[in-house]
Amino acid sequence: MIIMIKKIIIPAICLIIVLSHCSTKKDGIIMTVNGPVSSKEMGVSLVHEHILVDFIGADSITAHRWNLSSVLERSLPFLMQIRALGCKTFIECTPAYLGRDPLLLKKLSDSSGLNIITNTGYYGALNNKYIPKHAYNETADQLAARWTLEWDSGIDGTGVKPGFIKIGVMEGHLSDLHIKLVEAAARTHLKTGLTIASHTGPAVPAFEQLDILQKEGVAPEAFIWVHAQAEKDLISHVRAAKMGAWIGLDGVNDDNLTDYVKMIKNLKDNDLLNKILLSHDAGWYHPGEENGGDYRGYNTLFEKLVPLLLKENFSEVEINQLLVINPSEAFTTGVHRIN
Ligand SMILES: [Zn+2]
Repeated sequence: MIIMIKKIIIPAICLIIVLSHCSTKKDGIIMTVNGPVSSKEMGVSLVHEHILVDFIGADSITAHRWNLSSVLERSLPFLMQIRALGCKTFIECTPAYLGRDPLLLKKLSDSSGLNIITNTGYYGALNNKYIPKHAYNETADQLAARWTLEWDSGIDGTGVKPGFIKIGVMEGHLSDLHIKLVEAAARTHLKTGLTIASHTGPAVPAFEQLDILQKEGVAPEAFIWVHAQAEKDLISHVRAAKMGAWIGLDGVNDDNLTDYVKMIKNLKDNDLLNKILLSHDAGWYHPGEENGGDYRGYNTLFEKLVPLLLKENFSEVEINQLLVINPSEAFTTGVHRIN
């Protein structure tokens, strides 16, 4: 049994290291915490992970709640582990008011050698606990101006620019506040060319957001349906992907690998392998907990899911599509306008 596992795992890891040297045809740039990088240099990427998340709430959060060197010490080994597995780019999805820390990410990028990407935008999921007060009164244009300023001038005086827009909505129909967040994201996209990743879950709010984007003149190609694995009606994945949206299957862990294979196969059977984004939604340092609390590594996708896909007759070209080409297509900056 052990020999069998080894036989499967070793070639998969070799494959990922080979893929990490592959470049895509995509011209353009991704915006990392260390500035612009050619999309061709993005390599094997994890599109939705976290280094630090603080659930204290928008009214109480400050960067004084964590010690930079403690977080660095705790998280760096996990990044070195995936770098050794062939990963080149790490997209950190923690939004402002939930523990986004651009300087921490810059230090981790410098220490690990990984490209790291951070974000702009506000997270409305979890009952708006992470929405700052000003967002209730300001218009969509005012919010878009704040987020665009981070793209133009960097985040909070750090000089670090966001590489995508991260918003979050609740699971049911969109509230007025969340409609405003989506409108602000659309307007920021049209000014910056940053892709919109929205914490969404089920299909109802996913399609409502796509409707708003359409009204704002933004094409579905600019939208990542984050946590699409929460929608069990797989026809919705196909429908959204056919429109052009990215399907984020981003909660891979040891216990759900067969579900992921099923969801990936469903899109593959519909010729939509080119719309899938895979990741773990793993990590992270929890401020206020002993040594940052439980921290889940980012290796399952490389060590377990890829071997399983190879066993299910996915080709190396298809694995390259999932881990290298799709992330670079999704995160290369550029405006996707409806003509
Ligand atoms: Zn997440």
